[in-house]
Amino acid sequence: MAIYYSSTRNAKEHLTASQAILKGLADDGGLFVPNEIPALDVSLKDLAGMSYQQTAFEVMKLFLTDFTEEELKACIGRAYDSKFDTEEIAPLVEAKGAYYLELFHGATIAFKDMALSILPHLLTTAARKNDVKNEIVILTATSGDTGKAALSGFADVEGTKIIVFYPKGGVSPIQEQQMVTQRGENTCVVGIRGNFDQAQTGVKQMFNDRAFRALLDANGYQLSSANSINIGRLVPQIVYYVYAYAKLLKEGVIADKEPINVVVPTGNFGNILAAFYAKNMGLPIAKLICASNENKVLYDFFESGTYDKNREFILTSSPSMDILISSNLERLIYHIAGNDADKNADLMKALGVNGAYSITPEMKKKLADFAGGFATEAQTAETIRTLYDETGYIIDTHTAVAASVYNRYREAEGDAAKTVIASTASPFKFTRSVMTAIDPSYDELGDFKLVDELSRIGNVKVPQAIEEIRNAPVLHDHLCSVEDMSVAVKEFLAIED
Ligand SMILES: *Cc1c(COP(=O)(O)O)cnc(C)c1O
Repeated sequence: MAIYYSSTRNAKEHLTASQAILKGLADDGGLFVPNEIPALDVSLKDLAGMSYQQTAFEVMKLFLTDFTEEELKACIGRAYDSKFDTEEIAPLVEAKGAYYLELFHGATIAFKDMALSILPHLLTTAARKNDVKNEIVILTATSGDTGKAALSGFADVEGTKIIVFYPKGGVSPIQEQQMVTQRGENTCVVGIRGNFDQAQTGVKQMFNDRAFRALLDANGYQLSSANSINIGRLVPQIVYYVYAYAKLLKEGVIADKEPINVVVPTGNFGNILAAFYAKNMGLPIAKLICASNENKVLYDFFESGTYDKNREFILTSSPSMDILISSNLERLIYHIAGNDADKNADLMKALGVNGAYSITPEMKKKLADFAGGFATEAQTAETIRTLYDETGYIIDTHTAVAASVYNRYREAEGDAAKTVIASTASPFKFTRSVMTAIDPSYDELGDFKLVDELSRIGNVKVPQAIEEIRNAPVLHDHLCSVEDMSVAVKEFLAIED
């Protein structure tokens, strides 16, 4: 059955999957949503016998219905290959009674690789299918991990250019080093004097600026997005929840159809939304546990039904979750409003004007499957330390936020369901925070000394992604103000007004 996509703010426009991937964001500023969430059409038992690539096909074919089998399998084959340092692509590791789904074995050692290694292929396939003649320009705002993963995915992909904006001083040293050493003629990295939300808002403004888009078009360019608002990122993220469930079933950890819980360290709400979609496809997930750091706007939302971004922005040791406007939450709001674009548009307008909105009690009832929690900086560090002391397993700060929230959830609710924790980054990406959590005296060591020490005490090889940047030259040093983001784009594309 063909699935079509419409905006969360306007029910009128209907797009195919490939058109929605090309556009990224709807003209009205809304996000593309499928007209229905398709049900899995293979049994969980059959899935238990499948590879990651086969699972990806079974899930993605249901959403991307205008891609041929051949096209989709080609995209999957090119994405999930030896760029990943484990054959399983997404291994599951048991520690202290929870199952860590390691989503960080791709080129840039964070979970964004799961979707961003396939997005360039989906996008160029979509361009071919729709006879696009323009070159595609990817504009991306990053809180640290998206940027590098997108750069790595798109570098030297023909017919594309990519420009990444990151908050200067708001990402980890390793993250910054990874980005500014990016190779590829078609890549551009710009630091902005502002935080992630400002970078993201600036990117959204360029998308919504008709005059700017017309200027690009006249020069043979069109914009697309690699941010998690693109449906071409959301759909590949559903795959690993299905894969993880099937793996637990295969290993006899759970019985067929036994419900599991999923815990996701959350920022822009893309990863947990993918788990919500997986659940709605029929995957037996009981609770969706949304874990926040001290920027706990989502926790407050699940508690009170009011989303309020009017608060201090806190820089934490889990920077990829330092977000006050969780863009993908809009898709959930749309769904719990009964797929009502007008109702959603009103709430998003209130968010734009007042920085806040409240959902109705009826909508709130539909959030019963979600549980919200948050971890302070001290709790996050303590979680890393105790897990290491007790098991030798080292997790990164984002994953530790999730583990900390889960430990308290399990204790408070007495919920013994088998639980998958999305492990979203390698500890090598946030080495200083991770190592000082284990022992504060590590703070005296330099960044790469710390990397070697982490490898030693955790008994894990230094990932290729880190080895690569040890001595790499800085290729990008552009810094600009939030107001000048579009100027930076024009400069890179050599466009004159
Ligand atoms: C992006 C990111 C997150 C947050 O994911 P969302 O989909 O934005 O909620 C969590 N952890 C890491 C390491 C990330 O890179």
